[in-house]
Parts: sequence; structure tokens; C-alpha cells
Amino acid sequence: MDRKPDEHPDLLGETRNRRVPVLLPYPFAGPFDYRVPRELDPQPGDIVMVPLNRREEIGVVWDGAPDHSVGDNRLRAMISVLDLPPMRADIRGLVDFIASYTLTPPGEVLTMALRPSAYRAEPVPMGWRRADPQPEIRITEPRQRVLAALAGDTPRAGAELMREAEVSAAVIRGLADAGALLPAILPAAPPFPLPDADHPGPILSPDQEAAAATLRAAVTARAFSVTLLEGVTGSGKTEVYLEAIATCLREGRQTLILLPEIALSSQWLDRFSRRFGVAPAVWHSDLSSRTRRLTWRAVGEGEAQVVVGARSALFLPFPDLGLVIVDEEHETAFKQEEGIIYHARDMAVVRARLCNAPAVLVSATPSLESVANVDAGRYRRVHLPDRHGGASMPEIALIDLRATPPERNRFLAPPLVAQIAATLARGEQAMLFLNRRGYAPLTLCRACGHRMQCPNCTAWLVEHRARRELQCHHCGHAIPTPTACPHCAAEHSLTAIGPGIERITEEARACFPDARILVMASDTIHGPVAAAEAARAIEDRAVDLIIGTQIVAKGWHFPHLTLVGVVDADLGLHGGDLRAAERTVQLLHQVSGRAGRAEAPGRVCLQTFSPEHPVMQALLLGDLETFMLREAAQRRPGNWPPFGRLAALIVSADTADGADRMARDLGRAAPHGDGIVVLGPAPAPLAILRGRHRRRLLLKTRRDVAVQPLLRAWLAAVPASGSVRVDVDVDPITFL
Ligand code: ADP
Ligand code: ZN
Repeated sequence: MDRKPDEHPDLLGETRNRRVPVLLPYPFAGPFDYRVPRELDPQPGDIVMVPLNRREEIGVVWDGAPDHSVGDNRLRAMISVLDLPPMRADIRGLVDFIASYTLTPPGEVLTMALRPSAYRAEPVPMGWRRADPQPEIRITEPRQRVLAALAGDTPRAGAELMREAEVSAAVIRGLADAGALLPAILPAAPPFPLPDADHPGPILSPDQEAAAATLRAAVTARAFSVTLLEGVTGSGKTEVYLEAIATCLREGRQTLILLPEIALSSQWLDRFSRRFGVAPAVWHSDLSSRTRRLTWRAVGEGEAQVVVGARSALFLPFPDLGLVIVDEEHETAFKQEEGIIYHARDMAVVRARLCNAPAVLVSATPSLESVANVDAGRYRRVHLPDRHGGASMPEIALIDLRATPPERNRFLAPPLVAQIAATLARGEQAMLFLNRRGYAPLTLCRACGHRMQCPNCTAWLVEHRARRELQCHHCGHAIPTPTACPHCAAEHSLTAIGPGIERITEEARACFPDARILVMASDTIHGPVAAAEAARAIEDRAVDLIIGTQIVAKGWHFPHLTLVGVVDADLGLHGGDLRAAERTVQLLHQVSGRAGRAEAPGRVCLQTFSPEHPVMQALLLGDLETFMLREAAQRRPGNWPPFGRLAALIVSADTADGADRMARDLGRAAPHGDGIVVLGPAPAPLAILRGRHRRRLLLKTRRDVAVQPLLRAWLAAVPASGSVRVDVDVDPITFL
């Protein structure tokens, strides 16, 4: 039918009562219908203003038919269609997909994708310039520094001046009041320059070239595909996928790269700039709100061609996405564990599919999920077998802590201490890795055995000696370190049990008093600038010994680092979670990969109580493939992921009784049928978290069973009320 809405308005009842679904950024079950006033013609994706209760809200005209649950007479009218770029169909598809896959209300997912403020007019940025001529004023040293910093003609921002001249705002204000500084409009923010695909890159080895050719073909095909780019650390995976980005640039299309720890990726950014002449746009939570607005808009207008970001970059409004790359695809950091519980790697593949673009997953130690997808023919695989330029893989040694234990109250075994000493004596760098922050994970009273526990969580308080406090790593609760036992009042009886990174640092200082030590943990490295500084200090050999938590494991390239010592290689194996072994192999392989990345060969020492464990043997022999086959063989029979599906229900309540009751009710209403198993309810390992009592149930199904409909029916049958909450974690990777 071909009729214009305003032709015969009175004859066309449905025109007068035209309604459209509008999704609002709130956790409602779905979109609401709104009546469309005659003068408006909203289309799916349009950003609109609608009434909600007594307020006006921004929403998005959604896809699908209106639901007619509200009668025409009670239907409220849309207020306006905003003059903003509509939300793209692929983003709406992504929102719907994530909502339905993770059982999250779509409006809640929408909050990640809707950013109307990005299109607000930017205030004119103001800064300062020098008055000319300068008035006769008293010139102090700080004032002199400010004036010197303004020697050029370009005005500069106040904050920048304060930083460079190391002065307070008062100094600037004083100069302005005296007429020595005048307000001035700052030059426009630097645009997002186009990376130059033809900027000279390295000459690829034949293996690398073959891999690059496959990726290039995937990009020029302009169609959805998934390729797993696999190769040992240092084999040139990054160089290879930079080639794919070059191809995408030549195609004039945009690229999204997800990194697990973008805030710590200064070296990656340097490499990108070296390859393409300019930096890419970055997206992560540390950006200023202005940069965030500018970046969002530049992506949406197709001005930012390459964006590297954290999980949330998935929701950027790329108009012409031609390539999606997920580096370190096996990283569990891609799983968001709070709020909307989703896996950014998996959703990146979904986004690529919705945009009909190729995705590339990159790892030295791919997840069993991705390996299984390759085996099933769903993903392609390209493989780089060797380290680039003849650099050899580090030699792995296991240090049996039973045979050569550390001295009493020490944690570094004599063979490791000897290795470090020898490395430092050769003028090379060493690294100690322990994935545990603080001084000691447990504080115990020698007199009565009392253990210092968090009052809000089922967890020990971790000592942070430098801060003189005990802290819960789950809820943040902290108390000053007591001098007497709170239980038996014995003085000076509290003893630190086990090592954290602070304690290892103390021991290392005692063993190597002359070594220049750098500690890299989230407590000491705050944000990207500090991380970049630390990396530079290591590259410049201003550091001899690096001591770090998992933040040292990822991606870094330190050419002078030749020894890596893993203080407790068994640490991740306990806890009995499904992927404990896989994750330990991945993490330790990553850490090991930091050693010997240039000419000098590297060596890795793993301290362990169980050298015979398959994880240690896999690392020792460098045979990850056999290890993964073994993992697969163990998981396949029980339909454990990736050969079956898992979803967790986490019940929490103010009281243990409330949690138990709900968990029991859920247990009774559990789905059953062929290929469906429900485990639990059981107390969660973190039975109390932030004062909430927690129980878990686990739904495990064959791969061909769709878990979402089961979950929906299950949850609908047992509604939560009062303080009780049920969180759903589809494809869980932590089981706390
Ligand atoms: P991966 O990502 O697999 O760990 P990288 O891409 O980081 O490996 O490569 C390791 C190191 O070798 C980097 O410093 C990189 O610049 C260098 N490199 C890799 N391939 C080449 C090449 N073809 N020519 C020159 N340098 C290379
Ligand atoms: Zn706590």
C-alpha cells in the first residue's frame, strides 16, 4: 500500500493511532509502545524524547511490532524525534542479542550503547596566553616557570600549565589578576588522524606472510568469518594482524581491536604508531569525559578509523566496521562479571557477524572454546610456529619445593635465588611473578589460632604492610593492622602466613640489596601513565629486578629480560574450578613468554610442590597441544564446556535463611529432561559477600540444548522477592 500518512488523516484511523515501540535505558522487561503524533515520522533507531511517569526520557525507537499491551486510550504520545544520528541496526541487534543471551533487560544493555551527550555542542575550550607587553609585576620563581611555559605563541590549558610549570592554580590566578596572563581560545582538539597503511612496516617471514595473506583475504572478502591466529609468544602475531589492519585501512573501513588491559598497553600503542605513523583512537574507562565524547562522535562519523579499546568499545557506533580483532582472546578479563555479565570476546564475534565483517581472535594459548570451534569447522586457524628472528623459546625448569625448600619464613628457593644472582651478575634483568597483592594472604594469632577474617565476606583479610592495614580483597573493608589479637588480646602474636608480592619484595631486597627493584601491581601502578613509565624504565635498563602480579604477564616486550621466576606456580590450581588447569597453563605460559624475547636466551623457573602435575609437565615440555587434548578429553564426556553449556544462578539474600529458602525453591523447580543436569543448590565458595548470603545452582546441558528458554521459564516459576536476588551468569568462568 502506498499512502502518505498525512493525506487523509481522518479516514485512516491507524494513522492517527500509529504506535511504535521505544526502548528506554532502564531495566524494564522490554520496549514500551508510544503513540506517534501526526507531525512525526519516527523510524527504528531514531533517538526520541518520550514521557515516562512525570518525566521526559530519551529512548530509541526499537525494532519489531508494537506489543499493544496498553490500549489506545491510555497510550502516551511521543514528544519529539531528536536531531541525533539514529542508532544503527547492527547496534540494536547487538543490544537485543546480549540482552537475550545473558537474560539482562534490554534497556539495561541499551545504556552501554546510548550516548546522546556525545553529540552535545562542545564548549569553547579556554586557556591562557602571555600578555604582551608584560605588566610590571613581581616575578617569583613559580611565576617565571609559568611565563616560560608560555614562551611560544600557542595558548595552553590551565591544567597543562600547572602540570608543566609545577604550580598551583593560585599562581595562575595571581598572574591573570595582575594582567600578565590573558584568557585565550585553545586550538581545536587534535583530530583523529588517518593511520598510514603504507608507512613502512617490517618484512614478514614466510610463515608470517602466509598468515597475513589469510587475514588480508578475510578483510577484502567483506564478509563475516572468524579466524584464530595462534602462535607462541614472540612469533609475530601482532605484526601479522597489523597487516590485516593495513588492508582494512586501504579498504577505507574501520577496525576495532579489543585488548584485555588497555590501560596497560603503552607498548602496544607505541608499536601501532611505529607501524602506521599515528596513534589509534583509544577507548577505556580512564578517559576524560570530553575525550570520550569526542571519540564516540569521531567513531560514529567515521573519522576515527582504528579504535583500540576495552570491552565497552564493542558498543561504539562504527558506521563501517571492516575488521574486529580480539588480542589475548583466552583472557578471562574479557568476561565482565558485574552488572551485565557478558563475555566481550564472544560478543565481539557477534558484533562482527551483525556487521558482516571478519573477526580475528589472537592468542599464544587459545581457549579451549576457540580450539573446539576450530575443530568443529566454525573458525579458521592460522598458526605461527616459531619465535621471530631465531629467538628461541625460553628454557623451562621446575624447582621442586619439597626437594629444595626455601629457608624458614622465606619463599624463594635456593636454586631460584642462585639463578637471579647469576642473571643480575650478567647485567641482565630478572622478573619474579606472584599473582597475589599485599604482604600476606592470612594473618593468624600464634597464641590462640584466631584468623583475621572479613566481617562482611567469607574471606581472610590480606595484610598490606606498607599501608599498615588489613584489607578484604572482595569488599574493600580495611582495618589498621592490630598490635594485639582481637580474640585473645595477646600482644604481638599476630603472624603473617604465606607470601604476597610485598613480602617477596622484602625478601628480594634482603637477598639482592644492590638490585634496582620495580614493583608492578595494581597497588603501585595506577593507570596508563604509570604503566608506560614503568615499561620505559625497564626498557632503559633502569631496573634490574621486576616483581609483579598478573599485570606483568601480559603482552610486554622487554628485550633485556632473561629470567622469569614464578614464586608459586601451583597457586591457580586449587579451588577445583573447571578451567583451573587451563587457566594456569595460559597464565604461566604468558609470563614465561616475557623471558628471552631478544638475542639472549631466556630461562623460566617455576617453583612448585607438584612437578609431576600435567600443568607443570605441559609447561616443562612446551607441549600445550597435548595438554589441551587432555583437557578436552576430560571435559567431553560430562558435557562440560565447550562441549556442553553451563549457566549459573547465584542466589543472594540478607539472611542465610532467605538465601536457603530461595535456593531450595529454585532447586525444586529446576528444569529436567534429556541432556539437562542441575547441580546444587550449594553454598557459594564466597558464602557471604558484602554481607549477603550466597548460594549457587548450576545448569549444565548438552550443546544442542538452548539454555536461555530453560532459564527464563525457571526464573519465572520462582519469582524473587524482598531482599532476595538471583543473578544469572551464562557461560560462567568464575565459580565463586
Ligand atoms: P607476538 O604478538 O606473537 O608475541 P610480536 O608481534 O610482538 O609477537 O613480535 C615479537 C617481536 O618480534 C616484536 O618486537 C616484533 O616487532 C618483532 N618482529 C616480529 N616479526 C617481525 C618481522 N617480520 N620483522 C621484524 N621484527 C619482527
Ligand atoms: Zn569483605
